[in-house]
Amino acid sequence: MPSDPLVAQHVLEFPGGYTRSTGPVVGRFLTELRERRIVGVRTSEGGVLVPPLEYDPATGEPVTGEYVEVGPAGTVTTWTWVQEPLDSHPVDVPFAWALIALDGADTALVHAVVPEHPKAMRAGMRVRPVWREQPTGHITDIRHFAPEVTKIVSPVRAEYRLRAGGSLGVFLAGVERGVLLGGRCERCAKVYVPYRTFCPECGGPIPDTLELPDTGTITTFAINNLPDPRAPEVPFVSAYILLDGADLPMIALVAGVPAHEVRQGMRVRAVWVPESERTASMANIRWFAPTGEPDVELS
Ligand SMILES: [Zn+2]
Repeated sequence: MPSDPLVAQHVLEFPGGYTRSTGPVVGRFLTELRERRIVGVRTSEGGVLVPPLEYDPATGEPVTGEYVEVGPAGTVTTWTWVQEPLDSHPVDVPFAWALIALDGADTALVHAVVPEHPKAMRAGMRVRPVWREQPTGHITDIRHFAPEVTKIVSPVRAEYRLRAGGSLGVFLAGVERGVLLGGRCERCAKVYVPYRTFCPECGGPIPDTLELPDTGTITTFAINNLPDPRAPEVPFVSAYILLDGADLPMIALVAGVPAHEVRQGMRVRAVWVPESERTASMANIRWFAPTGEPDVELS
């Protein structure tokens, strides 16, 4: 009659850590790690052991005592995936335990590799150590290895100053005071904003500025799904807004309303930055937000 085997669970543990002396070879390895260098030791046969050992595991011969800096980059020779890291693992994200042949070494080091994506993990992958900020002389001074950078994303940013000509300067000076300045063509009576000195349609002169309200109506708009530094969130809406009294719309952001609720004919008002933050630029107007008035029938 079969019976269950007797099982006793044993745990061997040294709470608080088991202090052992490293010996000169491993000690040298750990001391170099503290300086963010990885060294191996040369064997009597001329190979380089990483991590270094007192004896060549292949021949049993003592090593030479010649230390050789290797890596820090290396090549993954084989690996196994750890989807759910344990507390005792070096990282708290999914990673691979990998054998890494550091450049210049004849043996491979076991360490964690954190790729950008599990599917990127492969033998032959080139990796580099990611160091702990404050190395202490421990193998965990290397947090983990990460794939070598094979592509970079360069930030592209062009900054330029547009020197405002006479009429644009007049307009921006108005914007700094929180006023939108347009002008009326003497010949055709059309009102343009921003202010300009000649009518773009008939060429007639526009001798004076005309103060326009900061309210208007959306004539047409676009929903944008790519982020823009000026927009509060994605998606955001850019719109042509016909200021009350103007004959030509201006382009601006629309916010304060879900993108899908924006519509033609919607009434909006400029949302200005606080007076203390204003400069002579259109950045003074954060965006236009709905006023809540009934929609306007567009002709
Ligand atoms: Zn005109």
